[in-house]
This record gives sequence, structure tokens and C-alpha cells, in this order.
Amino acid sequence: MSSLISRVLSVCRLAFGPASRYHKWGRQGAPAGGEAQEGGPVNELENALSDLDEVAGLLDIADEHLVILKNPRRTLNVSLPVRMDDGSVRVFQGYRVQHSLDRGPAKGGLRYHPGVTLDEMKALAMLMTWKCALVKIPYGGAKGGVICQPEDMSQGELERLTRRYTSEVGIILGPEKDIPAPDVNTNPQIMAWIMDTYSANVGYSVPEVVTGKPIEIGGSEGRFDATARGVISTIEEACRVRGMTLGGATMAVQGAGNVGGNVAKLATDKGARVVAMSDERGGVYNAGGLNLWEVAAQILTSGSVCDTPGCESITNSELLALDVDILVPAALGGTITMDNVAAVKAGMVAEAANAPVTPEAERVLFDRDVFVIPDILCNAGGVTVSYFEWVQNIQSLLWKEEDVYQRLHEIMVYAFYRVIELGKQRGLNLRTAAMMLAVDRVAKAIKARGLYP
Ligand code: NAD
Repeated sequence: MSSLISRVLSVCRLAFGPASRYHKWGRQGAPAGGEAQEGGPVNELENALSDLDEVAGLLDIADEHLVILKNPRRTLNVSLPVRMDDGSVRVFQGYRVQHSLDRGPAKGGLRYHPGVTLDEMKALAMLMTWKCALVKIPYGGAKGGVICQPEDMSQGELERLTRRYTSEVGIILGPEKDIPAPDVNTNPQIMAWIMDTYSANVGYSVPEVVTGKPIEIGGSEGRFDATARGVISTIEEACRVRGMTLGGATMAVQGAGNVGGNVAKLATDKGARVVAMSDERGGVYNAGGLNLWEVAAQILTSGSVCDTPGCESITNSELLALDVDILVPAALGGTITMDNVAAVKAGMVAEAANAPVTPEAERVLFDRDVFVIPDILCNAGGVTVSYFEWVQNIQSLLWKEEDVYQRLHEIMVYAFYRVIELGKQRGLNLRTAAMMLAVDRVAKAIKARGLYP
């Protein structure tokens, strides 16, 4: 029995864990006949600014501080010439946006995706600022992205792209300046190339320039599933507040990558019944609960959850509309919009992805008393353990996995209840309460530092 469990765990770890797409990019292949993103075009920057305006109206923030908060501190737009395997040169467009440096160096993921835009990077960098402030981590927010289709590129092409990107944005990177981490379609191997390129350029090893690295070069124990662990910590507390338990609850997870895959696995470990999962090609459903070993094995074989044996096929739209206790959007932003929010039946929505619910759709969910765990709280576990990794690198210390998990859980639970308390005191929904706590901390930092010159 125990050997069966360890086989299941090792397959899940391979499919959803640090090794995912380490050597094999076909895993989440092109959406051959797949579905388009839900809900049509969503302007994430407009949504982020409207969220900021809403809380600024509730906080005593001076206009001169609000105008600073609305604008990213630095935006770097780079053209990346890359030698392709066929000998041709292709120029990719890349970005690095640092929204705030007021509470510490900038921190944020690097995304490889055809849909990357500068506005999206600005919005996600701003979200990172709020997220770090909410969990009281001494960073500002950043985000980077390259417009590309990684599943159509070889490992060599991805390596050359990553090294060129690192070199081009290197002027604003550094352990005291800006520290990237994995995000959509990037992984520990890509972080290793960033670390190596930056180190080669400065002439010595600088592991602390990037987080989410392989353990062998300074990565932290517990980083690979940290975001999902944080998501689970907040879901468990949300269940407590709602008078239910995660064990026995039903769950549907959109996205089967690092975050979604590990949320499904950890929730199953805690006794939840994960009935559906999806990726960009479509989804699978089993009312009795998915066999995650089969799902993980299917991902490793075909690059998608689709066609997992013993499951019915469903679309992403059908997954979002399932009658489950907990819905976990863990793919991209702008998934739940005014076009489909009426179909959502779950009593709890855990925003594991960044900005998966538009502000208008979220108001509909709040009006229906759906418990929405806002992204800046729900998925803050990733940046929290990234911070642990940076701290360990700077101090040349190695923490044990159980210490990482314990500290992560404490930070997530503490932040969760500060948000709940403020929400109760002021009669606010959790998004507004979380944003108030975060924006207030950043505004106070700006005020304390004053304006230079
Ligand atoms: P990933 O690349 O590992 O996985 C993304 C998953 O989403 C894949 O299964 C992909 O097929 C699926 N997907 C993509 N487009 C889709 C679509 N249109 N419909 C349905 N599924 C789709 O990425 P990840 O690291 O798991 O990140 C997922 C989300 O979590 C992103 O919003 C990311 O910004 C956020 N996030 C990630 C971390 C982290 O540590 N990785 C931390 C905080 C937040």
C-alpha cells in the first residue's frame, strides 16, 4: 500500500512539481482544437486600477501618493534576437515592469505566453506589490513576460531566449533590485538559466537574483508547491469560517500546472473530492473524484489532462459551472466574467490564479454570498516561500522543508484573519479588506520615505 502511495506521489510530483516541463515542453501543448480563453478580452490593468481607486476612496491616502501608486516605477521593453534551431534569427518582444520599490526590492514572476501584453505586466506587477504588502514581505511588485509560444520551441531555443532576456533586462535585475520567479510557462530550469546568465555577467555566483531555482543551486525546500500550499491554507480557514471542512468537500480546479495540479493533489490528500480539472485543451470530470495518478500520468503522456481514462470530457466553461463546494481558477486571468458568472454554482471561489475574476463578476459573486478568497491573499504562498529562498541564499542557510511549510502556514493564516477581521469591522468584502490592508502599508511607506529630490 505504502509503495502504491509513493508511486502516486512521485508521478504527481513529476507532472505538477518542479520537474514539470523541465525537459519536455509538450506537456501543455498547443490548444489543438482547444478552447479560447473564457469571457473575451479583459483589460487587467483597468481592473487593477479600478480596484485601487475603490480602496483609495476608503483610505486616507493623499492624492500625491495615489498618483505614485497608479504608475509603475520602471517599465523596460526589450527586443530579443534569438537564433532558432533552423538557423534563422527571430526577434521576441519582452517586458519587465517594476511597480513599486517602496518597501524593498521588486519581486515578481516571469511569464512566457503568446498573450503577454505590457498592460497585463503592469497590472500583474501592481498585484505583486499588494500581495507582498498583505503578507508583510519586504518587497515591491514586479512582473516580466515574453510574447512567445513555448510549447512550439525547443529546449535550446528556450534557453537562448531566457539568457538573452536576462541579459537585456539585467540592468534592472539583482538581489537588491528585482528578483524574478516562475510564473505561467516558466519553471525551475528557466530560473537556473537566469541565475547562470546573471552570474556569468557579474563574474560570480548570485543565487539570490532569482527564486524558484532547482534545490541544487540554492532553491528552497518546499518552493515547488508553495503557492498551492498557501491556497490550501486559505481554503481550510475559509471552510472553518463557513462552518464546513475541506475534507469531504467537492472541488473543481481550472488549470493543471504548478498551482492547479498541486492544489488538486494537496486537497485530495486532505480528503476533498476533486471532481474536475482542466487545462487549455479542455477538461475531465468524474463525479466520484479524479484519480490524480491517472491524471498526472495522462499529462506526462499526452501533455494534457484530456482523455484521462475513467473520466468524462468537459469544457472549461462546463467546469466553471459545476455544482461543487469549491471552485479553484488556477490558470490565467479574466476567466470568470460577466459573460459566465451567472453559471457559477460553487459556494467558494479560491483565486489561485492572478485576477481570474473580473471586478464586475466578483461583485455578482459577493451579492450571492459566494466566499471569494482574493488572489493577493489566496496565492501569496509562492512569493512567501520565494522570500524564504532569498533570505536563505543571502544568509547561506538551508531551512528544512517542515520549517518552510510551518512558517508559510503561519504567515498565510495570520494574513487571512487580518483580512477577515477588517472585513467584519468595516462591513467589507474580502477583496476590499485585503486591498485596504495592502495599499495602506505601501502608501505609508511612500509617505515615510518622502519624495526625492
Ligand atoms: P503553469 O504554466 O504551470 O500552468 C498553467 C495551467 O493553466 C496549465 O495547465 C495550462 O494548460 C492552463 N491554461 C492556460 N490557458 C488556459 C485556458 N485558456 N483555459 C484553461 N486552462 C488554461 O502556471 P502556474 O504557475 O500554475 O500559474 C497559474 C496561475 O497562478 C497564473 O495566474 C499565475 O500568475 C498564478 N500564480 C502562480 C504562482 C507560482 O508560484 N507559479 C504564484 C502565484 C500566482
